[in-house]
Amino acid sequence: MLNKKSVDDINVKGKKVLVRCDFNVPLQDGKITDENRLVAALPTLKKLIADGGKLILCSHLGKPKGEPKPELSLAPVAARLSELLGQEVKFAADDNVVGPNAKAAADAMQDGDVILLQNTRYRAEETKNGEEFSKELASLCDVFVNDAFGTAHRAHCSNVGVTQFVDTAVVGYLMQKEIDFLGNAVNNPERPMVAILGGAKVSSKISVINNLLDKVDTLIIGGGMAYTFMKALGEEVGDSLLEADYLDYAKEMMDKAKEKGVNLLIPVDTVVADDFSNDANIKTVERGGIEAGWQGLDIGPKTRELFADALKDAKTVVWNGPMGCFEMPNFAAGTIAVAEALAEIDATTIIGGGDSAAAVNQLGFGDKMTHISTGGGASLEFLEGKELPGVAAANDK
Ligand code: AMP
Repeated sequence: MLNKKSVDDINVKGKKVLVRCDFNVPLQDGKITDENRLVAALPTLKKLIADGGKLILCSHLGKPKGEPKPELSLAPVAARLSELLGQEVKFAADDNVVGPNAKAAADAMQDGDVILLQNTRYRAEETKNGEEFSKELASLCDVFVNDAFGTAHRAHCSNVGVTQFVDTAVVGYLMQKEIDFLGNAVNNPERPMVAILGGAKVSSKISVINNLLDKVDTLIIGGGMAYTFMKALGEEVGDSLLEADYLDYAKEMMDKAKEKGVNLLIPVDTVVADDFSNDANIKTVERGGIEAGWQGLDIGPKTRELFADALKDAKTVVWNGPMGCFEMPNFAAGTIAVAEALAEIDATTIIGGGDSAAAVNQLGFGDKMTHISTGGGASLEFLEGKELPGVAAANDK
């Protein structure tokens, strides 16, 4: 259990509550194309409204790089959030975030009112955790609530700096849920525990592999990162993704798995293509059979079976990274097979954020998983065993 104070431990009646949310949603032509993160924020917001708090919400959106960018304004989020909450969310459109609009709106608030500040990354200090902006944010409120798991792995003004200038800093329900699910899965799992890692690169998941080898019974490696492991075993991988600088590391990890008695599985067959394209020529080859001119873009049918079989008796599964280039339909079968296997088993299934979460949702398996994290980078750093600064900054219980 998370040892941090939460919204259940405070009384916000009549108080101004600054809530750091993760409203970093994808936008297309000013329209929100995936509102999962807004929906995920609602339990905390509804609780604080019901308790009579005056809610001042803040979030970043995209990467405006420290200056106002109209296409990255949070205005569309205020509009949609008003609908989802069934009450007005007043948008305080100050380019400097804590400006005259925000201050006037905050002063005029009644209990249960909600306002939303402009994109915190309009301010260059935000990502540098600068003192001035942190103080300005703190000056708006009596209490601070951090419910933005998606940025918990970063120390910025709006999630870490601000806590130095408020007496009370607690976490929200989403943050609590994320940490409880991920924490239990990794540190207190019901066994057997299986981790599935995929995605493009070994280099971005080095510490995750290393840390998980201390925890799991089985480690499944698919996706682009598998080829570096195959090459480390002396097999040809043709034009597949290969990180030659990480061959020794891959060997080391295979040795570590043996030492720890971890069942490390890599693909036994591969769907290869003669071009990085859905319309390329495609065939399936056995391990060691990837020729020059061909690249592996998905796991093959025997591997799908092998991985599904390894998942059958699992009681806890953590999945981060697709098994192939699932964005192209001809290379999605491996990722679909793993999602199907997870949907069928009687286990706690935790999906890391980012691409894996997108894949599971896009493929229609979202409601079959125990928990889909809202944070890609944050869940990855959690799986690395790191302390997340956004969580550490909240008051201890
Ligand atoms: P990551 O952000 O590291 O989880 O990587 C996700 C990306 O890896 C997705 O966009 C996939 O298309 C890509 N990917 C998965 N398998 C492969 C592969 N075999 N070759 C190239 N890219 C891959």
